[in-house]
Amino acid sequence: MRKNLGTRIILALLMLVILSSYLYLQIQGYRELRLPQEQAGSLAASAPGQAVVLSQTQSASPNAAGTTLDTAELHAPAVQSKDRGSTAAPEPTVDPETPYGKALANAAAQGLPTPPDIDITSWEYTLVNGEHSIDRYEPEQLAYLHQTLAETDIQTSYNGNRCPVDLRIAEPLIAFGQGCKAAGLTVFLSSGYRSYSDQAANFQRICQNNGISDGKDSAGHYITMPAGCSEHQLALCCDITDRYYQIKNASIEQTATYQWLNEHCAEYGFVQRFPSGKEDITGVMYEPWHFRYVGVEVAEYMTENHLTLEEFLGLYGVE
Ligand SMILES: [Zn+2]
Repeated sequence: MRKNLGTRIILALLMLVILSSYLYLQIQGYRELRLPQEQAGSLAASAPGQAVVLSQTQSASPNAAGTTLDTAELHAPAVQSKDRGSTAAPEPTVDPETPYGKALANAAAQGLPTPPDIDITSWEYTLVNGEHSIDRYEPEQLAYLHQTLAETDIQTSYNGNRCPVDLRIAEPLIAFGQGCKAAGLTVFLSSGYRSYSDQAANFQRICQNNGISDGKDSAGHYITMPAGCSEHQLALCCDITDRYYQIKNASIEQTATYQWLNEHCAEYGFVQRFPSGKEDITGVMYEPWHFRYVGVEVAEYMTENHLTLEEFLGLYGVE
């Protein structure tokens, strides 16, 4: 009997162990099932917050709507996938073969900060230079601006007394000039759009006046571009000075207007296109009056990092 009782106690204990192990496993299993649901719940709850952050980023940049929209679309899935992962928050993977993937790698290799995540094929980034002709390109819609910005209306039909530019840069250009005037300075929009045939005539005249045939000075830098190679034909730029000059030269950099324009251009989406010391890269002589529109985000990156358009686009693999 005693033996029997002992066996019973052992059996009972064994049952107890089995039962508690079973209960323990049940609880663990329940937890594992429950956790992902809770994570998913918190992700869903935080999604509207992320949308707000993205739209804030969009409105903070007065860049072209199309560009910022693309950026937001690209960011949205990356942010979510980051949250789904562990607390290590791995960086979203960017295909190294895409323009932005190339820009990330090239910027890192050159010790530059993270470049803007942009659609490099967008109109603001069109490259025109001695090696990149736009042939007989014509802008879709021109805007004619008052040369001293005494009037700030935007006329869209031909007006020979006004400065023509691509309609898409009319508003930022007016804001830029008005900012300069608000600082107590004068502005003069001396040259905007020039057609292919205008540029051909310009080229011929300047070459004749300087006794040259290729448009280049003795250092091999363009002083006038062949037709098809001028940024003025693209109409996304403007020569801005304090007053009318028959011939513009580097001394314009000493004017208060130039100094204000140079300091504030990026805030309005413009860059100094042909800076001093970068003539071998742009192929063009120093032109402190020539400002090119690229949008605020890119203008700030280029200006802060002293990059020409050639160098900036080169990061993205544009050659
Ligand atoms: Zn110019």
